[in-house]
Formats: sequence, C-alpha cells, structure tokens
Amino acid sequence: MNGVLAAERAQVASACVRLAAAGLFIGTAGNVSVRGAGEHAELVAVTATGAVLADITADEVSVVTLDGAHVAGDFAATSELELHLGVYRRFGSGAAVHTHAPKSTAAACVLDELPVIHYQQLLLGGATPVIEFHAFGTHDLAEAVLRGLAGKQAALLANHGSVAHGPTLGAAIEHALLLEWACGLYLDASRLGTPRALTEQQQLAVVQAALKRGYGRTKPSAGSQPKGIGLLRDRHGRARA
Ligand SMILES: [Zn+2]
Repeated sequence: MNGVLAAERAQVASACVRLAAAGLFIGTAGNVSVRGAGEHAELVAVTATGAVLADITADEVSVVTLDGAHVAGDFAATSELELHLGVYRRFGSGAAVHTHAPKSTAAACVLDELPVIHYQQLLLGGATPVIEFHAFGTHDLAEAVLRGLAGKQAALLANHGSVAHGPTLGAAIEHALLLEWACGLYLDASRLGTPRALTEQQQLAVVQAALKRGYGRTKPSAGSQPKGIGLLRDRHGRARA
C-alpha cells in the first residue's frame, strides 16, 4: 500500500490480527491506533469502525489528524476515536489499544480497581483503575478514561473492556496483554480465596531489586555464550520491574 502512513496502517492491521489470535479481540469489538512519526506526528492510523479484526487489512485502517479530520482510507474511523486521540494529546503516547478482552472485561464487571497481586503489574503503573461506566463512543467515556489513565499504562472500563497505551505500538500491545493476564490471574486466584495484594513496601522492594540486579536483562552466564530471555524483559527490550 502506498500513501500517507502506509506502514503504520499495515502495522495496525497486523496488531489487530495478533490480538484477535490471542483472544483479546472478538469479531468487530476493539480498536487500535498508532501515531505517525516525524513530519507525520500530527496524524494517526486507526482501525475503521465495523472491521472484523481477525482478518482486517491495511485498507480498513483509516488515517485522521489529531483533531479527528479524515485524511485517508475508505472507511470511517472507530467510534472510540475521541478516546484514542485524547491519549495522544494528553499523554504524548505512540499507540493505543482498546479491547473487550474476556478476562479484563470480567474483572471490570466486578472490581473497582485491580490491585497489584503480581509485581509485573508495576509495568502498568501499579493498581489498574476501573473507570465508571459511560456509553461507548461518548465524550463522557473518553474524558473519564483519560482522567483515570493519569500515571497508568492501562485502565479497565466498567462493564465494557480495557484500554492500554504506550510509547510504541509494541508496548501498547504488551500492556493490553499484560492487563489481560493479570485479570486472569486475579480471577483464578479468587476461586481459592481473596487474592493478597502486594503492599507498597513490597512493591518498592521489587523496584529496588530490579534496579540493583538489572533484572530482566539477558546476560551471559559464566563461561557460556550469551543467551536466554530475561524473565522481566519484553520483546521490545523494555525492563519488566
Ligand atoms: Zn468498546
């Protein structure tokens, strides 16, 4: 595909296929956007409304300005466009993902907040807020989510789903996947009893241990060739505290 943000449109389509394969996107529910770089930093590639995400193509990814004006693509952008654009304007993010992922949505139907029960959740900014319910695609929903995302890489939307963002599309995807995993962990643990939340002191100890050990980085073992995957390093090289 040629034209403005052609590469980004293809990346958004690939991201949707991946998230559908991972079970986070079902049917047409969910949307992904990525912001252009350099001279295209005022443009955003975003999934079209109504696209079947498991086999979406770059043609079904639209390009809009940060003000929401349509630039390219044959289809109207997602109904959650205001939410996506707000993430870029307010947090300077590089990408955003909205899902109706099963475990995230289940947790968002019950909890007021997902507590930190595993230290990997620190990558999401600690406990994940559950944003009060507003109808999809509304200004009220976008505003409430943006308020809740302050200092967070992800949020749960009450009785609706999840939102994640990050500096890159890869990071936003990983945050959505991590939140879905954490919600699944919470749901599984809840069958056994009330999950213990990590205290602030315990969370701080994890951060200090990660800093001290350079935890999450692959390192050569003594006398061997460098190999192995750090437990807390994601595929994009960001440390997982
Ligand atoms: Zn939704």
